[in-house]
Amino acid sequence: MERYRDIGLKLTPQRLAILEFLDGNTSHPSAEDIYNAVKEKFPTMSFATVYNTLETLRKRGLLLELNIDPERKRYDPNIEPHHHMICLRCKKVVDVHFEFDIKIPAEQLKDFHLLGNHIEFYGICPDCR
Ligand code: ZN
Ligand code: MN
Repeated sequence: MERYRDIGLKLTPQRLAILEFLDGNTSHPSAEDIYNAVKEKFPTMSFATVYNTLETLRKRGLLLELNIDPERKRYDPNIEPHHHMICLRCKKVVDVHFEFDIKIPAEQLKDFHLLGNHIEFYGICPDCR
């Protein structure tokens, strides 16, 4: 929670509940998932509050936005470099912590200065097979 202390937003109880839900969360929730979870505690909370908080965190580099799920954006509070697998049936997104030794041929790379990569794997998870 420490890293969320100075996000430039007033930390209302509702926003704190969003941050608490995200902290250490590895389920790669969508904005709707987050809204539904936090709404249980704060029934009057609006979807806009959730979305604005997520956008603020994303712009500050504290939250990754994943486009791995074609149906909805997914969010990842783990901003350390890692990769993902998605189950095409249940849309579960799983972390892949492995440093792949992949290289772009020099003639294609030209003078592009690479800062990182993100690999997305698609398949069917054990629960769905
Ligand atoms: Zn599945
Ligand atoms: Mn992840």
